[in-house]
Amino acid sequence: MIKTENYLQKIGNDLWFTEVDRNNLKIDYRIKEVVHSETSPFQQVMILDSYDFGRMLVLDDAIQTTALDGYIYNEMISHIPLNVHPNPKNVLIIGGGDCGAAREAAKYPDIDKIDMVEIDETVVKACKQHLQEVSGNLSDPRVNFIFEDGTAFVKEKRDYLYDVIIVDSSDPVGPAVKLFELEFYRDLYNNLHEDGLMVCQSESPIFYSEMMINIYRRLNKLFPVVRVYMATVPTYPGGFWTFTMGSKKYWRPNPDKFDKDTLYINKDIIKSCFAIPEFMKELLDMD
Ligand code: SAM
Repeated sequence: MIKTENYLQKIGNDLWFTEVDRNNLKIDYRIKEVVHSETSPFQQVMILDSYDFGRMLVLDDAIQTTALDGYIYNEMISHIPLNVHPNPKNVLIIGGGDCGAAREAAKYPDIDKIDMVEIDETVVKACKQHLQEVSGNLSDPRVNFIFEDGTAFVKEKRDYLYDVIIVDSSDPVGPAVKLFELEFYRDLYNNLHEDGLMVCQSESPIFYSEMMINIYRRLNKLFPVVRVYMATVPTYPGGFWTFTMGSKKYWRPNPDKFDKDTLYINKDIIKSCFAIPEFMKELLDMD
């Protein structure tokens, strides 16, 4: 396995971080400083301060979120399901260690409880301390941090169910692989109320279309309603990013009731984000 240090190198007086997206694409970021670096039992956790993207969270050499545009992804993965569900009370977030999704969910006063199940406490601590552009000063008593593997958590018996589940996972490598499997989605289904819904990040439709298709097909095996929506996130290679929602009942967004303080999402984005380009309709075999 190639160690992280190999992706950080000095060229002249400059420090560069290289993200290897796949065999044929590498992206270089000029770095001001390594703010934080440690190896947890699960992964290498770094916070780098970059020139163009500001501070960024890097797990096992893959950029997860940045100060520049973390709000786009976190607002989209949170507010869309919380807007489609008419009255969410119990919310579960799986992953989401940068705390951005929990921060957005905490903007809903009617939500009673936000369980956040993150496998790696190191990520939460690092982001709360060094990446406040994304984590904010999250200290809402309704947010209940549970440091456990999300796949094990959803198998446990509980005396309550969720209205909305947000799967804010890393890419399907390392501890996140199981978060993309049918068995995990089935467990999510079983943890939802009879009118509950879930959403997950479903990768790039350009560079990882196979993954997006697999997620869509797997969710279609379980949920009566499956819908894909999109946003442009410059941090992620290709820019275009997809999210997939599996719902037992609701699917219509309610833009008129949206009243949160946000930087990206607004009523028009809520109305339009489910518009899918032709090539994606073909990939997903949609009518
Ligand atoms: N927005 C980011 C993206 O799209 O790349 C991902 C955000 S968040 C940092 C992803 C989190 O998922 C990480 O903190 C990671 O530790 C967590 N994670 C990975 N596998 C997990 C698992 N099996 N259970 C719970 N959390 C997991």
